[in-house]
Amino acid sequence: MDSVSCYLVRGLPSIREGDDLAAMIQDRFPLRDGDVVCIASTVVSKAEGRSRKLGDYTPSPRATEIAGRLDKDPRFVQAVLEESEDVLFDRPFLLVATKFGHIGVNAGIDQSNVGQGRILLLPENPKASADRIRWGLRTDCAVIVTDTCGRAFRCGVAGVAIAWSGIGALRDWRGKRDREGRELEITQEAIVDEIAGMANFLMGEGGDGTPVAVVRGLEYPKSGGGIFRPRDLDVIRDRLGEI
Ligand code: GDP
Ligand code: MN
Ligand code: MN
Repeated sequence: MDSVSCYLVRGLPSIREGDDLAAMIQDRFPLRDGDVVCIASTVVSKAEGRSRKLGDYTPSPRATEIAGRLDKDPRFVQAVLEESEDVLFDRPFLLVATKFGHIGVNAGIDQSNVGQGRILLLPENPKASADRIRWGLRTDCAVIVTDTCGRAFRCGVAGVAIAWSGIGALRDWRGKRDREGRELEITQEAIVDEIAGMANFLMGEGGDGTPVAVVRGLEYPKSGGGIFRPRDLDVIRDRLGEI
């Protein structure tokens, strides 16, 4: 692999519930076998009808208490709690594990690029969404559903993969040798996040209207690996209660 290309899919309209993203993408872009189609979770959610009115949420006492402390709308906090399986901490912001296993601030619920008084939940099962979109393509492509997230320890948001299909999450370097002949023992490279980061860079965060980027020229494993550490190996998560 000497070079890769990354293209935006131009001309996508405002996505509405029921839209067939696979059809809309391949109508506008000449996909080829092996392409990695990166799709912002925002539009996957819109197509799946995951927009909600804030006014439809009734805050529980717990949501009201957290919201008061964080200076947030209690209905928004209620929505976050309803999408969560576990609250990792609730100060100075709300970090949760979603029901489908993603860890993110506010359960990845967005208030940008949605209407006034509305919020957009992440897809209910992004892995199923990625599979469905991939199966809807006429070409043999991989699909990555991306979201823009903050990172522990590091400033600035970046694109990450929240689900993928037809590609392995990790490139395994274990057993390979470095330039000095030393065998690599640990290195697994989170390639779906690296690809999502590049795609997210092109998509932008604002009003560009470009939620899909196609990465071409990559060699990648077709399967394998998960992104979140198994619970028993996640020493940082275990210590969060001490914060
Ligand atoms: P997220 O990273 O998945 O939370 O999505 P963002 O809100 O950051 O949006 C990513 C890109 O998709 C930006 O270029 C937005 O302008 C674009 N976008 C968001 N919603 C739509 C839509 O309904 N239609 C189109 N064409 N672009 C959208
Ligand atoms: Mn988002
Ligand atoms: Mn984004």
